[in-house]
Amino acid sequence: MRLGARSDWPAWATLLGICALGCGISSEPAPRPAHPGSRIAATDSDESVTSPSADTVATPKQHRDPVAATTAVPEQTSTLEKGLANLNPDDDEVVGPPEVIADCEPRLQAAGVTYRPAHLPIVRKQWFVCGSPQVVEYIEGPEHIRYRTHPLVTCQLALALAHFERVLNRSAKELLGAQVVSVTQGGTYSCRSMARFRMVSEHSYANAIDLYAFGLSDARTLSVLEHFGAPKNAATTPEGRFLRTLAQRLFDENVFSVVVTRFFDELHRDHIHVDMAHYRTDGSR
Ligand SMILES: [Zn+2]
Repeated sequence: MRLGARSDWPAWATLLGICALGCGISSEPAPRPAHPGSRIAATDSDESVTSPSADTVATPKQHRDPVAATTAVPEQTSTLEKGLANLNPDDDEVVGPPEVIADCEPRLQAAGVTYRPAHLPIVRKQWFVCGSPQVVEYIEGPEHIRYRTHPLVTCQLALALAHFERVLNRSAKELLGAQVVSVTQGGTYSCRSMARFRMVSEHSYANAIDLYAFGLSDARTLSVLEHFGAPKNAATTPEGRFLRTLAQRLFDENVFSVVVTRFFDELHRDHIHVDMAHYRTDGSR
């Protein structure tokens, strides 16, 4: 199934939101669009719809059988390295899952991603729609990082995660002298709107992921909650500098359209939210 072009999406849909499990619905903030023409439609509505938690629905079953999964064909990442963040301000107000990428699978293979095609049905919830026409179970990327649970993500986000892994390990080697071997993520899919803003979270499309902790090759574990630190203070530890530098690079190098940290609000004190929204939001500094 393929959803229609962006113009097919109804006018009620305004911007998108952030946070899956780590943010409270009642206080979830609106993103700060970086595009000049961006608009946020605030509302007093308390309307919200919660769907299955990421743990029970968005997170796919663990698949240990590598034979069943599509095997990666590494190489050719030059296009990917330019970043896939949406730099076009003209579609900031378009709401809906990302458009289908016709050559998704060859691009994933070229990016070194091992994945399994998946299904996330389109579900209408009151005034908005959840689900996505093109999702995959992200099993392993080019840096062979282990995710605590395989993320179920849009193809667009899967491609971005491949890029993310490279930036992640480049930064870890540079700032920590180690490699990242595991990522603790808090979920990708959660079908709901925001309470304070008439906005749909990118998690509603499995087009966002929350990053909580990173395991290193030297057995250290970096926790956003423990190491990111309060924004009013400069980072004083290598771990804190790494997390802050990483978040900034993920935005500056166009890895993701949206990067939100504790610099944005306290709802993100324990995780870094990243997504591939149509608009840009820099909450990394
Ligand atoms: Zn999130």
